[in-house]
Amino acid sequence: MRRTIRRFWVLPLALAVVYGALLWPKTAAPVSVTLPEGPPVLIIDAGHGGEDGGAVSVSGQVESSINLSVALRLDALMGFVGVTSVLLRDSDTSLHDADASTVAEKKKSDLQNRVAQVNATENAVLISIHQNTYTDSGNHGAQVFYADEAGSFVLAQTAQEALRLALDPANARKPAKIPDSVYLMKHVTRPAILAECGFLSNPAEDKLLGTDAYQIKISLALAAAYWDVYYR
Ligand SMILES: [Zn+2]
Repeated sequence: MRRTIRRFWVLPLALAVVYGALLWPKTAAPVSVTLPEGPPVLIIDAGHGGEDGGAVSVSGQVESSINLSVALRLDALMGFVGVTSVLLRDSDTSLHDADASTVAEKKKSDLQNRVAQVNATENAVLISIHQNTYTDSGNHGAQVFYADEAGSFVLAQTAQEALRLALDPANARKPAKIPDSVYLMKHVTRPAILAECGFLSNPAEDKLLGTDAYQIKISLALAAAYWDVYYR
């Protein structure tokens, strides 16, 4: 009984601390960001889906399902605070056109459709959710990548800090420019970040990434960062 009570309290308390840390008035000078004319629309992209599962973890977890779980939680949090958000996918599907037949065609069509939806949305801001993997299983820690579009860097910086506070205060990773090879991020014409929430190739992080508590902390950190940049 005591364990149940303690567990019941620890998570809300941790989340309140993280959220508070992001939303409390800061002493540092405010960052400059060009705000859209109308209210921003958060587009949440759960990376991969359907036949394209993305990376597979050391324990067999599939990246696409963790991405989706975090995306759904982020969307729910946005709804909770009354912020407009759109999920590019809300189930384990690929977004390819019906006439795409090969795996390569489906992948290409899926990415083109994601880009089209982002670029067709006025005042869109994109948060794409992925999980990392590397040959060295020692690599760990969330890292946020940003697109070329103005506004991307400040959101990446804020999200990187929020993820550091929420997940691992010792994480020294810095936000980085996304490589040109990432189709979605290269082709969107809206502020965009891609969050690599952790390494599926690291056994400890893989285990954490599969838990409700850790996924809630990730989604809350991303929500707080978005709020901090666009609503504070
Ligand atoms: Zn991925």
